[in-house]
Amino acid sequence: MYDHREIARAMDLFHFEEHSPGMIFWHPMGWRLYRVIEDYMRGVYESYGFLEVRSPIALSRALWEKSGHWEKFREGIFVVGSLDKDKEDLTPDYALKPMSCPAHVGIYKSARRSYREMPIRLMEFGMVHRNEPSGTLSGCMRLRQFVQDDVHIFCQEADIQNEIRNFLNMVSEVYKAFGYEKFSIKISLRPEKRLGSDALWDKAEGALRDACEALKYAYELLPGEGAFYGPKIEVSLEDHLGRSWQCGTIQVDFNLPQIFDLAFVNSEGIFEQPVMLHQAVLGSIERWIGILLESHGALPLWLAPVQVAVAPISDKSAQWALYVASKLRRNGVRVELAKRDATISKKIRELFERKIPLIAVVGEQEAAKGTVNLRRLGVSGQQEIELLDLEQELRNLVSH
Ligand SMILES: [Zn+2]
Repeated sequence: MYDHREIARAMDLFHFEEHSPGMIFWHPMGWRLYRVIEDYMRGVYESYGFLEVRSPIALSRALWEKSGHWEKFREGIFVVGSLDKDKEDLTPDYALKPMSCPAHVGIYKSARRSYREMPIRLMEFGMVHRNEPSGTLSGCMRLRQFVQDDVHIFCQEADIQNEIRNFLNMVSEVYKAFGYEKFSIKISLRPEKRLGSDALWDKAEGALRDACEALKYAYELLPGEGAFYGPKIEVSLEDHLGRSWQCGTIQVDFNLPQIFDLAFVNSEGIFEQPVMLHQAVLGSIERWIGILLESHGALPLWLAPVQVAVAPISDKSAQWALYVASKLRRNGVRVELAKRDATISKKIRELFERKIPLIAVVGEQEAAKGTVNLRRLGVSGQQEIELLDLEQELRNLVSH
């Protein structure tokens, strides 16, 4: 079994420091990986009709009191205070957001909304802070600072089922792209203490079930496990080692629209309260990366921070190496030129230790013929291949 921290060290992705427990110092290669994932998700969200937003990471205490988070998550909230000069005490005026919901509510409320623009689907790569006990912190898997693909959909009751289907289609597309073929679905139903009428719960729970059935997904029902504010779906992926990770979720919320007095003008010109859905496909991006590293060991080509290392055997083939590297870069391939002064066997060993999927070795012979000698991570042997053919092969492989 792999430990994602060891793999991250071998690949030089990030480190932790005692000054910031539970927070990641991303190195260039780790940040590149992070951004590949973020860019990919941005594209998926755009293709499903989501609008990206960005909101502040600190919001006033009064807002968190209103949303109920101050009371319920007080222990987990990092407060930001201003120094009271007389008492030399901190007055907790603000909180670092543990989630982005109230901020997206603010964006919704910034304009008068009409049924014509519904559903409004807001998405943020939202940086959140949660003061987890230090004993529970564990690499990327549990952090105090992380980024969620945090989504809030404001819609009409009749839209719920369609939004759930949208979500399940996204989950299936995204998980497959990252190499996970299997996932399981749990639906949490009404608890004893709850908000909203039984008719509303019937409708919402029915919409969750109908969406799963329409897409022919099996699901497990968890009676009584829903939040007081609405039912939810939780999706767990199965990794290559057969382990299960809960990542995706979509939750129906009748509570926040009521607390924050949300409204839209319906087709009869009357104010109506929207339903709010909270959604995440990856969950925490940092934890997603941890799971990726542990389940894959080495990353698939489209995710690798360096996809091809070009390694010249000596100075005599340096020119050709430079040409190969720049040619591949122009095709959108993430390339590193291994210029370090070392024997070729040492270079290859070190590059593979960093889990770079492809190494193109070039010597004088290859330079004369316009080829490279290709080695693949985890595959023994080598293959002489023309630069043009390599370009062609990579064009199909570097994106997901
Ligand atoms: Zn939320």
